[in-house]
Order: sequence, then C-alpha cells, then structure tokens
Amino acid sequence: MKILITGGAGFIGSALIRYIINETNDEVICVDKLTYAGNKDNLKEVADSKRYFFEKADICDESKIDNIFNAYKPDLIMHLAAESHVDKSINGPDQFIKTNIIGTYTLLKVATKYFNSIKKGAKNIFRFHHISTDEVFGDLTDSRDLFKEDSPYKPSSPYSASKASSDHLVRAWNRTFDLPTLVSNCSNNYGPFHYPEKLIPLTILNLLNCKDIPVYGNGEQVRDWLYVEDHAEALYQVATKGIISETYNIGGNNEYKNIDVVRLICKIMQELHPIEKNNNSNDSINHYEDLIKHVEDRPGHDLRYAIDSSKINNNLNWYPKHDFETGILNTIRWYLKNLNWVKNVNKNLKN
Ligand code: NAD
Repeated sequence: MKILITGGAGFIGSALIRYIINETNDEVICVDKLTYAGNKDNLKEVADSKRYFFEKADICDESKIDNIFNAYKPDLIMHLAAESHVDKSINGPDQFIKTNIIGTYTLLKVATKYFNSIKKGAKNIFRFHHISTDEVFGDLTDSRDLFKEDSPYKPSSPYSASKASSDHLVRAWNRTFDLPTLVSNCSNNYGPFHYPEKLIPLTILNLLNCKDIPVYGNGEQVRDWLYVEDHAEALYQVATKGIISETYNIGGNNEYKNIDVVRLICKIMQELHPIEKNNNSNDSINHYEDLIKHVEDRPGHDLRYAIDSSKINNNLNWYPKHDFETGILNTIRWYLKNLNWVKNVNKNLKN
C-alpha cells in the first residue's frame, strides 16, 4: 500500500512513519512544509529506505499537492499537517486558520478530484484519515466524565477551533462527496522528538539547564497522556481497519495533573541526572522542584480532558502498551541521550 502522510516530519507524523517503515511493507510519501516544527532529522532512521519518499510542500498549495497525488497515486492519506501549539494560536491565529482549515480544505478538494479519477478497484481501497485532537470537545467539569465519539464539539482556543472546523469539513466531504474518510481524536501525546515548546520536553530541558519551569496557574489542569509510539500504532489500525465515515477516540488512560507531571519529571531527573552533579546547577537550588514557577494562567485554559477509548479497544483491539511512568522514563532517557537533536532544533529556530 502507498500511504501519503502530511506533516510527517513533525512529532507524531515522524513516529508514524518510523512505525510504518519498520513494522509493515507499505510505502510512505511524507509531504511536509518543514515549518519550525518539522524536522527531517526526525526521519533519519528511515531516510535510506527504498519505501520512503519525501516531498516538501505546503498543503495549501493546491497545484503542488495535485501533482504529488498524480505522481505517487496513493491508496491512503493520513493527514497530520497542522499548526499544533495552543499558545502560538492565541498570539497569532492566522497561520492556524490557513493551515488547519484552508489546508485541510485544499487536501480534501485534491483528494476528491483524485478519488473520482481512479478506477473502481483503486476506489475500493482508497481512504482519507484525518488526525485530530480531543481538544475539540472543550473542557470536562465533572471528574467522572469522559469524551466519547459523539460528545458535542466545544473548542476553547483558536487551535482547537481550527481543528474542530477541519473535522467538520472532513465529515462533510464524506457525506456530500462520498469521499471515504475516517477521523480520530487523540489525547495529549508525549515521547521522543517532541518539539521543546511543549510541557514535557520543555520541563526536561529546562531542568537540565537549571532554568525555571513555568507552570500555568495552579497546575491542576488534567490531561490524559499517550506515548507517541502507542498513538502511531493506533493510527495505523484506524487507517487500515477502521470503518469508513466513523470516528475513533484514542487515549492513554493516564490522567495526570500538569503539576504532577512536572514533579514526576523532577523526581526521575534527580535519579538519572542528580542536581548535585549538574554542571549548570546554582547554589540556591537544592532540588529540581525548586525550579517550579507558577505563572499567569493561559486565557481559556481547559481544566480537564479525558478520553473514553473503549470503541478502539473493543472494535480494533488496540490498547496502549506504555503506562505513563514507563513512557516518561523512556522519554527523559531519550532527551538525555539526544542533546544534539535539541541543539539542532534550536539552531534551526534561530536561522
Ligand atoms: P507538530 O507541530 O510536531 O508537527 C506538525 C507538522 O506539520 C510539522 O512537520 C510541520 O512542518 C507540518 N506542517 C505545518 N504546516 C504545514 C503546511 N501548511 N503544509 C505541510 N506541512 C505543514 O504536530 P504534532 O504534535 O506531531 O501533531 C500532528 C497532528 O496530530 C496535528 O494535526 C495535531 O493537531 C494532532 N494531535 C496532536 C496531539 C499532540 O499531543 N501533539 C494530540 C492529538 C492530536
């Protein structure tokens, strides 16, 4: 099977490509604009595979995307390209509207034209899988509630509103134009190759440099954390075995408050890289937790997200393999071993 993956040079997309090249016989065409969040180093491990192809392109560029579809004739589209950082969407929503809404619309337009042009046999195989987030459902106020596939959409940030819009477009293209689509909505991911603007990598790297750890408000916000390699496997199951026109929620069953995530990282860092031996340590810091600094909360910050994954568990027999403590230990070890990757990411950002 030929799989066209948009946003494949990002955090989740690159985990998905590594999974497909290492675990299946499928071919992958990675289509990525290489924004600040996209990094070809994330794909070094598979770059020499004869089943891997890379095309630098913006998903908003209709003629370029059209040419890529006609050149590679993909059987499956897995659409991950997006602007993904909530804080950035608050400071500058424009690019989120362009990429997440107009970009998804452009991709749907090209995919529909391509789908209508192919023969019946190829049509029976073709699928368009849109990768989305649990943030489209907004906030959970009752501690027992869980997001289900039919939970109402109530996005709070420009990021989640743009993702919600793209989910609606995908469903409309299925209903109106018979494009064979699937949608998955996933909880917060963490793991190797995570861009250092997000909570977990930022915390690890700030601790390593003995810099303050900014925690929004009281840090009581609850997220359901999923190890990125588990998500990659779930995405492959949804894309290849899911039922057309359906939605699948994907979660890690690992609910943690942000402040507890930060404290756990401090504890593991103390074991793996004790502050006493940290070259960057300063005398006023006795423990990594001393670096935690509560900062003004993000406007519109959702308090709790939690996912009911029973549909994907029962129908596609997918379960996460990593609990949070194992996953976070792997992640911290990965960052400690891959400081060059971090250095290069920071260098690219400055250029
Ligand atoms: P990321 O920011 O790490 O990567 C996004 C990738 O998309 C980058 O490689 C970037 O270069 C590329 N891209 C951005 N704009 C583009 C454009 N106009 N054309 C082509 N490529 C473009 O994001 P991520 O964390 O890997 O998330 C991937 C997808 O999964 C997103 O759609 C996101 O909404 C969704 N998601 C993320 C999480 C999470 O916790 N990170 C959770 C659930 C869902």
